[in-house]
Amino acid sequence: MIMVYCEQRNGELLNVGLELIGKAVELSKDLDGEVTAVVCGNKITQLSDKISQYGATRIIIVEHPLLEKYTVDAYTEALYQVITSENPDILLLGATLTGRELGPRLAARLRTGLTADCTNLEIDPESKLLLMTRPAFGGNLMATIICPERRPQMATIRPGVFPLPKPDTQREVEAYVFTPKLSEEDIKVKVQQIIAKVRKHKDITAEKIIVAGGRGVGSKENFELLEELAELLGGGIAGSRAAVDEGWLPKDLQVGQTGKVVRPKLYIAIGISGAIQHLAGMQESEYIIAINKDPEAPIMKIADLAIVGDWKPIVRRLIQQLKQTMN
Ligand code: FAD
Repeated sequence: MIMVYCEQRNGELLNVGLELIGKAVELSKDLDGEVTAVVCGNKITQLSDKISQYGATRIIIVEHPLLEKYTVDAYTEALYQVITSENPDILLLGATLTGRELGPRLAARLRTGLTADCTNLEIDPESKLLLMTRPAFGGNLMATIICPERRPQMATIRPGVFPLPKPDTQREVEAYVFTPKLSEEDIKVKVQQIIAKVRKHKDITAEKIIVAGGRGVGSKENFELLEELAELLGGGIAGSRAAVDEGWLPKDLQVGQTGKVVRPKLYIAIGISGAIQHLAGMQESEYIIAINKDPEAPIMKIADLAIVGDWKPIVRRLIQQLKQTMN
């Protein structure tokens, strides 16, 4: 059985858990066909309706008043109790901030192995082992890792790596409530208050159109033109690590291996060379336009439309044309 941890925040499911259910359903066809989704919190039974629609064959709602606010101690203990009572062969978690915190702690308690930040998962047809692939040696090669001796085989996967399956609104799966044994003493950290960060930009993984800039954009001020283009197209801006390192963009707008994985309908890469670590975060975009003065830049090879030239006059022209079309 494959178990998928579905993270919720303030009673809302994060997409990554649902993406992982989709992948688990695909993988389970080569195993016993069983996919169990697990969600933790307090008074969250209503979440089972949405989870049902994504293909899990069982749903476990782990509820306890001490799981109301996320603490690593309570969540690790609660999940540990569920995992040891269910004994899954495979356990998948989203590589979110909390998934990255829970994964290694669970792996250590379960005395098993964990492959973090996987970019692909497959089942080996002969051994039926989970093949966990992730970039290694600074992204210079892809390593496929197995966990042959211990169970569960554990992996974390970043949001957006697998597509969100189409929900089947007719599908209903009965949820089973699991009440973990937890006490105040188990929890070393007391959460007093959660203050949400106010973001100027929308989460880039949710954007349908992304205008991304790299070192070739040249300055922070130049990014204002990219913002204007993105706004006219109804999308958002993002960038390469070079643009983030230069201080032109905040880190949460970085696309790539150490940034976010995005798969928008349209990705416009401006002044980005297309290093492998950048491609890892955007190559699944539906349509890619690259603007670069170097026709040999790697991004030009994967682009659906490669425009060779200095980006600034091209983008100015695009903005002008879009404004004319809209008037
Ligand atoms: P450059 O490679 O410097 O490319 C600039 C491009 O702009 C060039 O192709 C140039 O021809 C073009 N250009 C210049 N002037 C103009 C102009 N006027 N008009 C048009 N085009 C112009 N990178 C990421 O992006 N995301 C990651 O998550 C990431 N993670 C990494 C993790 C590791 C472990 C490592 C080692 C590296 C990582 N990197 C990541 C860095 C990556 O290797 C590249 O260094 C980086 O992506 C380069 O950014 P860039 O394309 O903006 O800059």
